Amino acid sequence: MTIKIDKKIKGYAVVKPDEAAAAAPAAAPVAAEAEPAGAEVIQMHEKVERPDTLIGATYKIKSPLFEHALYVTINDIVLNQGTPHELRRPFEIFINSKNMDHFQWIVALTRIMSAVFRKGGDVTFLVEELKAVFDPRGGYFKTGGVYMPSIVAELGAVIEQHMKMIGLLHDPELDAGQRALIAEKRAEYEARSKKKPDVEAAAAAPVAGSKSKSESPASAATGGEAESGAFPPGATLCHKCNTNATIVMDGCATCLNCGYSKCG
Ligand SMILES: [Zn+2]
Repeated sequence: MTIKIDKKIKGYAVVKPDEAAAAAPAAAPVAAEAEPAGAEVIQMHEKVERPDTLIGATYKIKSPLFEHALYVTINDIVLNQGTPHELRRPFEIFINSKNMDHFQWIVALTRIMSAVFRKGGDVTFLVEELKAVFDPRGGYFKTGGVYMPSIVAELGAVIEQHMKMIGLLHDPELDAGQRALIAEKRAEYEARSKKKPDVEAAAAAPVAGSKSKSESPASAATGGEAESGAFPPGATLCHKCNTNATIVMDGCATCLNCGYSKCG
C-alpha cells in the first residue's frame, strides 16, 4: 500500500515491531501534527502539586437536622493560568462544625472527595451522587422552597453551586419558548388567585356576617406571597427540581421553576 503525504512531515515516530505495520506509518504524521497544540495544556491529574496558596469559597449550611451550622470550604486550583485553556477546578474540600457527632464520617467524606477532585477527569458526578442521598428521618425545606432530602444532599447542592460559580457546571438553559410559557402560566395563575379571595370574601360575608374574618384570608395570602418571594403561595413540590413551585390549573400541574408539566 502506497501513501502519498502532501503536507510537510513535522515529526515522526518509530513503529515498534509488534504494532500493526500497515496502519502505523499513515497515522504517525497526523498524531505528530496534532500533538504540539495539546502538549502544553495541563489537565488535572494526581501529580499536579498543590500550590502554597489556593483560592476558594466557604459556604454555610444550616439544617434543622443539625444543631450547629456546617461550614463547607472548597478550594480551587487554576490550571493554565493566563492562557486560553485557563481552567479553575476544585482541589480540596473541608467541612467544619461545632458539632462533633459525625466527625469521623465527615472527615472520611471530605478526604475521599478531595482525592476525587485531584484525580482529574469529570468530577461533576459527585453532585448527583450526593444529591440523591435521602435521610431516613426525612428531609427539610430551605428558604425559597427547595426541598433537601438530607444534609448530604445539601452538601451536594453546595458543591453544585460552587461548580456553577467556577464555570464547571452550567444551568440547563430554558429556551425562550419555555420561559415564555412559564411566564404566561404564572401570570394566568396569579390573575386567577387575585380574583379568588374577592369572590370568596363576597360569598363568605353574608354567611359569616363578620368584616374582620372576610378580610383576613386576603391579607394572609399577600403576606405569604411577600415572604416566599419567588413562587406563588400554595405552590407544591416539583419532583423534578425539588422546588415548591408547582401550580395546578385546569387539571394540569406546571412547575414555575423548571417548566415540568403534567396533566391529569
Ligand atoms: Zn420543577
